[in-house]
Amino acid sequence: MGGLLSRFSVSKKKVAEEDGESTPLAPIMQSDVKRLASLLDGLERSELGWFWASDGAGRLIYLSGPAAERITKNADDIIGTNLSELFLDDEEGEQSPTQRPLKFQLAARNSLRPTIVKIKREKKTLWWEISGAPKHNEAGEFGGYHGIARDVTSTIASQRDAEKMSRYDSLTGLSNRYHINHKLGATLSAFRVAKRSCATMLLDLDRFKQVNDTMGHPAGDELLKQVSQRLTRIVGKKGEIGRLGGDEFQVLLPDIDDRAELGALSDRIIQMLSQPYSVNGMRAVIGCSVGVAVAPFDGIESEDIIKAADLALYAAKGGGRGQFRFYSSDLRDQASHRHQIEEDLRDALVKEELEMHFQPIVSADEHKVVCVEALMRWNHSERGMISPADFIPVAEEVGIIRELGEWAINDVCQQVAQWPTDICAAVNVSAVQFASDNFIEVVQRALKRSGVEPNRIELEITESVFVGDINRALRMFKELKEVGVRLALDDFGTGYSSLSYLRDAPFDKMKIDQSFVRGCTEEGNNNGAIVSAVVRLAEALNMETVAEGVETQDELEAVIGHGATRIQGALFARAMPSEQFVERLASGQLIFEPRGPEKFRSDRRTEFRKVGLIHEDSRYDVFLRNLSKTGAKIEGLLDVPIGTDFVLDLGGGQLAVSKVARSEGFSQGIEFETPLVTDGADGLCTRHRVSPYQIEAAGRPLSALDDAAVAALTGAMGQNKKSFVEVDLGALDQEAAA
Ligand code: C2E
Ligand code: MG
Ligand code: MG
Repeated sequence: MGGLLSRFSVSKKKVAEEDGESTPLAPIMQSDVKRLASLLDGLERSELGWFWASDGAGRLIYLSGPAAERITKNADDIIGTNLSELFLDDEEGEQSPTQRPLKFQLAARNSLRPTIVKIKREKKTLWWEISGAPKHNEAGEFGGYHGIARDVTSTIASQRDAEKMSRYDSLTGLSNRYHINHKLGATLSAFRVAKRSCATMLLDLDRFKQVNDTMGHPAGDELLKQVSQRLTRIVGKKGEIGRLGGDEFQVLLPDIDDRAELGALSDRIIQMLSQPYSVNGMRAVIGCSVGVAVAPFDGIESEDIIKAADLALYAAKGGGRGQFRFYSSDLRDQASHRHQIEEDLRDALVKEELEMHFQPIVSADEHKVVCVEALMRWNHSERGMISPADFIPVAEEVGIIRELGEWAINDVCQQVAQWPTDICAAVNVSAVQFASDNFIEVVQRALKRSGVEPNRIELEITESVFVGDINRALRMFKELKEVGVRLALDDFGTGYSSLSYLRDAPFDKMKIDQSFVRGCTEEGNNNGAIVSAVVRLAEALNMETVAEGVETQDELEAVIGHGATRIQGALFARAMPSEQFVERLASGQLIFEPRGPEKFRSDRRTEFRKVGLIHEDSRYDVFLRNLSKTGAKIEGLLDVPIGTDFVLDLGGGQLAVSKVARSEGFSQGIEFETPLVTDGADGLCTRHRVSPYQIEAAGRPLSALDDAAVAALTGAMGQNKKSFVEVDLGALDQEAAA
């Protein structure tokens, strides 16, 4: 066909002109040409195939008429167009990794195997499959291409639709679970070769189920759409977002491993997603928890990274929701701990392992106990006391919080009825329990059975009850007030306060969350201003205020200065078993003395763990005594000069370049070159870690970091002559154990 076409490598118009002229071709050839021309004409019209040809400069010199008409009304216009401008690479299609862009193939004068190309003209997009062969003259000079083409637009369009459906979540338009996981796998294997890193965030919406249940599924769907819009705005070009199903999302963030940046982004996501939504004219509020893992630091394969991010998410949720958490290897143990809690919790009630402890709440002026908060304790037969912060969220998740809550109200009512004074007791009510239909009956029954006066029972409710149907919540409050119990708004400021519902809700008391009390005495911290504003607000609404979690003398002074009328906190007393509290009541000692430290130091955390220290060619073991963002106190080396440069190995590939700022005997104060950042929980971590690629380059197999990651690299150092005398750490060890 190449030979035949070579005679037609001019525009068809020209062929017709030539045809009419008296030509030098022999008569037999002329009829041949005519026959062939009409044959080709028929072929072109049938759409089975079209022809195209280009000249040596890459310009189109022939295109079958019907083909040209497909592209443009004025078919002659496209003759002369550069081939690489007409036929575009189809980037959305599946391409084999070895396939080079069309432009290069044409420039290299390669023969074109069937290739799908895109044609964009006059707002239309067409897909053609083209193939072609380069043609050369006798002298071997390149003279352009001859090729064939066919239209595959409808096939490609439906293929793309199907692909889109199989790759994207139809509700939100984000990548679906399959696609985002495929993407993660492909990214990680490509990045491994290029020695790049990729962070993965897993997000879970807090209390989404509540919205879905109270406002209906269409509202839930609408909410998910708005969530994905907000998420898309925040993440932008930094990464790719997928919806894994339900209320779970995943974000891939290539080339980000700086934990300061990842922490800031997580915080922003949590804040933005926690702003109220307007859904079908109703107001809804949800929260969000985030787990973060970074390849290759926390895992090499995509399954490992997902598992790590999942564990981090789990920890973030367990830590009280509305938080982010970085993966660290000790989360694995915590996860199995939580699993155990889940298993055992069902038996806890039956085995009577739960008990109520009571923490006094004292008046600001006299320090006299006016009320107590009942706090649940789980005395586990093997694990000892388990904190409600650990098991209440599990109970909410597995659905046995209603039983626990009912038991709590009954137990407290029974006990309070026996007490020698008439002080009141506050019982915490989970939002899940509050949402159950028979909640008011449960309260009424407990009151009746115990015979306690309703106004001696206070229900502590958190702002999360305002998620979902707010009118129902307001109705419930009204009914509870009619029953006669008191109502307190717990952890005020941590949730979804809106002045409009506060005005309508009949609370007797507002409890200022301890996160505002903490640090309210520090300069430059606006917690003090918040405490003061909350007190004003409570006064205006005729509510009492309790400052929660007061631990130090200066905090006490500050919250009283800001006008709080009631104080609760370790400075006066921690929660105690009921016998102990009743004894105290019976003895008439109702005044509590403030006992505790003068000042709170937020920047210092007391630590007591062994860490590695690298100095020149030696590695030492030292004790970390305290740790702040900017420095640490270490013990274990004698007489280290001020100004000495160290690298502190905090484990898990975390190295902090430091300088000795203070030194006394076996104790040194060191300052970090780069400040540490929060790990999402109470801890601190370095922004960057030693890369597993670096460890690999040192001759070890590529693997995720563990606590001994750096020690493995620097292990051989120990043999070198050391510059410093090491103190017997065993003695310090015993002190730590004591
Ligand atoms: P909450 O209602 O905000 O209770 C106050 C928490 O602060 C208690 O923790 C209390 O021991 C602690 N606390 C009091 N003073 C101080 C202080 O000076 N410093 C510090 N660091 N903490 C202080 P706890 O007992 O671990 O309870 C944690 C949470 O578990 C409670 O927070 C409450 O939300 C929940 N909870 C406890 N008991 C129950 C219960 O019977 N039912 C339900 N639904 N939730 C409960
Ligand atoms: Mg409480
Ligand atoms: Mg509280």
